[in-house]
Amino acid sequence: MSLVIAIDGPAGSGKGTITKIISEKLGLVNIDTGAMYRCVALACINNGIKLEEEDKIGEIAKKVKIEFDKDRNVYLDGVDVSKRIREKDVSALVSPLSSIVAVREEMVKQQRKLAEGLDVIMEGRDITTVVFPNADFKFYLDATVEERAKRRFLQNQESGIDMSLEEIKEAIEARDYNDMHKEVGALKRTDDQIYVDSTNMSIEEVADFMINKIKEN
Ligand code: C5P
Repeated sequence: MSLVIAIDGPAGSGKGTITKIISEKLGLVNIDTGAMYRCVALACINNGIKLEEEDKIGEIAKKVKIEFDKDRNVYLDGVDVSKRIREKDVSALVSPLSSIVAVREEMVKQQRKLAEGLDVIMEGRDITTVVFPNADFKFYLDATVEERAKRRFLQNQESGIDMSLEEIKEAIEARDYNDMHKEVGALKRTDDQIYVDSTNMSIEEVADFMINKIKEN
């Protein structure tokens, strides 16, 4: 039987960093589902497709080839887009685009397929509720919006993405609101998730806490 660890949480809550650490420590395949939605958004931008053109976006979601390597680099139709998908235009489009039900259906299908027969740690917004409601471990990773904006600001500086702290905070708040109010696949807290508030915790503390929870059971 394969092991599935599911992590959901809002933008900038540290899911990507934590998932990478835990996957390395426990030898799990690491799947960043946000990157998949970002790839669909980028493909739409590249093809001049507008948000209103839902049918075309649904087609794009089916057509694009999204791949990962073990370092969490992301490839869209064979091209490394790891940095490009974090830029402002993609970040602004991805949340409304991922509200389109046809896009969600296709991504959920691909995510389940990617995990088939493997021990995985998968992060996103609907992993604990829709993609793998019966996952072995379900976590909800959180932090205050101020802390999350600060973390994203530092990450962006490292990647050369130019956005002010205030601009990031506003963008995160808008994205959270949309992600929590989607008709399908909304980000939700449930009683069976292990809730982790990482606001005052270091990355190592969060990773250790989660690994201990996994090992305890
Ligand atoms: O995790 P990340 O911030 O890269 O995700 C980008 C966007 O993709 C989210 O804001 C959300 O709108 C969408 N997403 C989603 N379902 C997931 C993962 C991400 O709708 N499982």
